[in-house]
Amino acid sequence: MTDYTIESLIEKILAYTPDAEVSVLNRAYAFSREAHGTQKRVEGSPYIEHPLAVAAILADMKLDVTTIAAGLLHDTIEDTESSVENIRNIFGQEIAFLVESLTKISRIEFTTREEAQAENFRKMILAMAEDIRVVLIKFADRLHNMRTLHHLSENKRLRIATETLEIYAPIANRLGIGWLRTEFEDLGFKALMPDLYNDLERKVATRKEEQEAYLRDVTEIFRRKLEEEHIPGDVSWRIKHYYGIYQKMLAQRITFEEVHDVLGLRIITDTKANCYAILGLIHSLWSPVPGRFKDYIGVPKSNMYQSLHTTIIGPKGERVEFQIRTLEMHMIAEHGIASHWKYKEKSRIDEKSDRYISWFRELMQAQKELTDAKDFLDAVKGEVVPEVIYIFTPMGEIKEMPVGSTPVDFAYGVHTQVGNRCVGAKVNGKIVPLRYTLRNGDTVEIMTSPAQSPSRDWLKFVVTQRAKNRIKQWIKAEERKQSIELGQKLLESELRRHDLGQSVLKSEEMEKVLKFFNIQALEDLHAFIGHGKLSAHQFVNKLLPEKPVEEIPVPKTAKPPKEHKGITIKGVDNVLYHTAKCCFPIPGDPLVGFVTRGRGVTIHRKDCPNLDKTAVDDARIVDVDWKVEGDITTPVKLFLETVDKPGMIASLSALISSVEVNISQLKASTTEDKKAYITFILDVRDKKQLAALTQKIAQLEGVIRIMR
Ligand code: MN
Repeated sequence: MTDYTIESLIEKILAYTPDAEVSVLNRAYAFSREAHGTQKRVEGSPYIEHPLAVAAILADMKLDVTTIAAGLLHDTIEDTESSVENIRNIFGQEIAFLVESLTKISRIEFTTREEAQAENFRKMILAMAEDIRVVLIKFADRLHNMRTLHHLSENKRLRIATETLEIYAPIANRLGIGWLRTEFEDLGFKALMPDLYNDLERKVATRKEEQEAYLRDVTEIFRRKLEEEHIPGDVSWRIKHYYGIYQKMLAQRITFEEVHDVLGLRIITDTKANCYAILGLIHSLWSPVPGRFKDYIGVPKSNMYQSLHTTIIGPKGERVEFQIRTLEMHMIAEHGIASHWKYKEKSRIDEKSDRYISWFRELMQAQKELTDAKDFLDAVKGEVVPEVIYIFTPMGEIKEMPVGSTPVDFAYGVHTQVGNRCVGAKVNGKIVPLRYTLRNGDTVEIMTSPAQSPSRDWLKFVVTQRAKNRIKQWIKAEERKQSIELGQKLLESELRRHDLGQSVLKSEEMEKVLKFFNIQALEDLHAFIGHGKLSAHQFVNKLLPEKPVEEIPVPKTAKPPKEHKGITIKGVDNVLYHTAKCCFPIPGDPLVGFVTRGRGVTIHRKDCPNLDKTAVDDARIVDVDWKVEGDITTPVKLFLETVDKPGMIASLSALISSVEVNISQLKASTTEDKKAYITFILDVRDKKQLAALTQKIAQLEGVIRIMR
């Protein structure tokens, strides 16, 4: 790599932009060489060779002079005495901005590698939004470092190679820069798994040798056919890159010998129509392998990749893969976002580039919401590594979704409100459950209802980060709203108990007590109380002036409700409550919640006689309802008056067990007039089940009366 010089760099640039303003490059080179002075690279060569090599890579990408000058200067602030102001004064704002952004990406140090990786990536995403050229220079920098990786220590080598495979290659792929992705992947693969890499390299070479004659025959037949039909087409061979082969072997659990598309033919023609004409020719000469035809021209990949792929059974029964595309499609496949880069074009993301990076809007959102570096990195990996299926809207519009997506993912992909309100979906005209796994080519229609709201259950099956974030956001907001409401009622009720008016909430004492509990605002206090983190009793006790109050430790977390797990008060999660022992409410019973002092909410049946006596104050009543989750039972008390005869209890027990209801308690007593009073505590699912059971019991001979 020592053959890079400023002269050869300038020559390279003038070859694709003869009128380039190259004087800035001479100045940038001089500045960089001066700044790096006697610095050496690890292997001992002068440091300036690195920025020169980076600039040469940028020139290979046919980028503009500004970008290349920034490439020459990219390590000057990082590693030398120079400052941004220095560079701004000499080279202007644009170059200074690029160099400064690059410096920011790599400067921060972190405690853990994961954090560092996540943070580096976050910086890169942000820089990309500002000016995509920052990322292109970063890519060139990384590429040269990867090419010269063998000089580094093993530790560094593995770290850089992993990061390249996990982050740089997927982004290069997303930006459509095929050659760069390929090189990143193969260099990373080679560094991480040298033995595997060398083995594959040997096998590919052998396979190539074996198949050369064969492919030459196929090519010859095909060239003649093209000439006959007067269709222009350049036929060339393509060899799948090593990491691609390795990935395929892993994904399909096959050996190298079973990978059929290691070698393939690529045909480049002039028009889209001729792509399809050539496809027709191929299929008329040889039989296509079913399921192997892919039309990425009709449905381009999200990174704009376009091509027709087909695999045919060639002469002697050997499989051959063909890729057919126009020259323009080929340029886009190789250079992606960089192919839209015209010299002197302004740097901000233009419309064409915009199509490459719509995916990262989601990441921008995620980086705002996910403060934990690890969460963010997971989100990034989920969004950047695209294993996608194509889904159609009822209007025939195509949406790209990750593999495993459900109608809920799709709905959130359309709009947050569509997601929040979705009640069902039709896939290819048929109604499917919300957790249905979408398949490639499905047409999805989302049904919405204004009465619907997101459910925590959805988190168990959605796969897109967008859907996850939106659902969590909604639940969080809703829970807080409910907690505040409940907490406010609990607090008011407690204040009233002590004959304290609302005015106390504005008192100086109040402020002190809030501070004592480390609570910022009244709303937060309500939320704390409603959430069960602090009881209204504890708080108001502290507020009371006369009594010296014992120190009450603030419980760190809310205790989950102990009874009836799986049943919650509708709309209110994480609230302390218990069902009343006087009336044993079960699902299906109309309910009333009664705010008790410091013990959360007690749930009574609406018709409970005990309630009338205690519920003197309406403010202590809260609206509650059942929300049964899963297969959960609730205890209920049943009184029976029967004739006292042998076998009565046995036949009752048998009857109850026969409908699969569990008896958790049984008490019986008899009277002189030959009557028996039996009390059961039964575990039932809901009112319906209980009604069916009591009906059966009533029909049993000897039963006189049944009461709850
Ligand atoms: Mn560098």
